[in-house]
Amino acid sequence: MSLRPVYGHTPIRQRLAAAAMEGRLPSSLLLQGPRGVGKQRLALWLGQYLLCDRAIDEGQHEPCGSCQQCRYAERGMHPDLHWVFPRARVKDSDPQAQDAREDLAEAITERMAADGLWGPSNGTEAIYKYMMQAVVQDASRRPAMARRTVFVLGDAERMVPQEASPESANMLLKLLEEPPPGTTLILTSSEPGTLLPTIRSRVVSVRVPALARADVEAFLDDPSVARLLSRVPKDEQRARAGGTPGVLFAGEQLSGAFASARAILEAALAPSTPDGQVQRIKTAARQGVAGARGAFSDMLDALTHLLHARTQQLVQSGRDIEARRTAMTIPLVERAKELTQRNVSPNLQTAALLAELHHTLKP
Ligand SMILES: [Zn+2]
Repeated sequence: MSLRPVYGHTPIRQRLAAAAMEGRLPSSLLLQGPRGVGKQRLALWLGQYLLCDRAIDEGQHEPCGSCQQCRYAERGMHPDLHWVFPRARVKDSDPQAQDAREDLAEAITERMAADGLWGPSNGTEAIYKYMMQAVVQDASRRPAMARRTVFVLGDAERMVPQEASPESANMLLKLLEEPPPGTTLILTSSEPGTLLPTIRSRVVSVRVPALARADVEAFLDDPSVARLLSRVPKDEQRARAGGTPGVLFAGEQLSGAFASARAILEAALAPSTPDGQVQRIKTAARQGVAGARGAFSDMLDALTHLLHARTQQLVQSGRDIEARRTAMTIPLVERAKELTQRNVSPNLQTAALLAELHHTLKP
């Protein structure tokens, strides 16, 4: 039971390792990039690299993989590599830092039991105040086993704002601004725009791009990945993965998002007849039950994936005009994503988006 190897991201790994060797790695980093691209895995790799007994001393660009630090880190159980990510609130009226530690330990065990594979956080999970209190407390302790302490904070935009307790908010900001010596904080986010500005201004951003095709293939060929996805045909895996194969491990919620996205694409491609029109109206009406904006955003993400995949397929089969038309729809979906931030109702948005998609895609 250990983490999967890091697939791809070679240039970033080289850069981060070089910076660490030269002593110029910022102590608070933000890895930002699309959901499912492997940001948390990359952050854990960097944590392992920083803790490794040999890599930096010996001028290697990869952790050695065999020292005690590496072995613990690869099993997700290094006491100085703290891994925090959104969770459902623990069922306690007044949860404390220790509850957060126990809950996260359990969650990490689950992730390891799934061969180090996990899906995106769902809409109800967050990084609650008591979880950040654990981080602040643990950052003030000396490392247990390694020379340093590293915190990985996945999906950092889910940190619950702490207006109600300015004191703990300030402790967090102080920690980010000036971590204790020997401490590194690595935040990851697929929605850096929604991070609190007070947090964003205190971290150095590193962009994590989508994976190259060969890296996605290598990931899909990983025996654990292949086993977990054995019920999904390989073509569908590729189409859904795009350059961000982590999305394949989404639970119910994201599979639902793909189903909705597929229905929208089908409706957009339906002919300009009264029947096609009815299909579009019905599809729009099915979107957007009240309060489902999170689901709507997930659907739009899924739609972007499908459109990218469709464009690629059309290019490969030499249908250039259709490929170009399909590529032109991607910015429309991006714009819809921006609008979701502004409280526009999902039905209205879907109806408008469907009309635009149909107009752009129709022969
Ligand atoms: Zn090592």
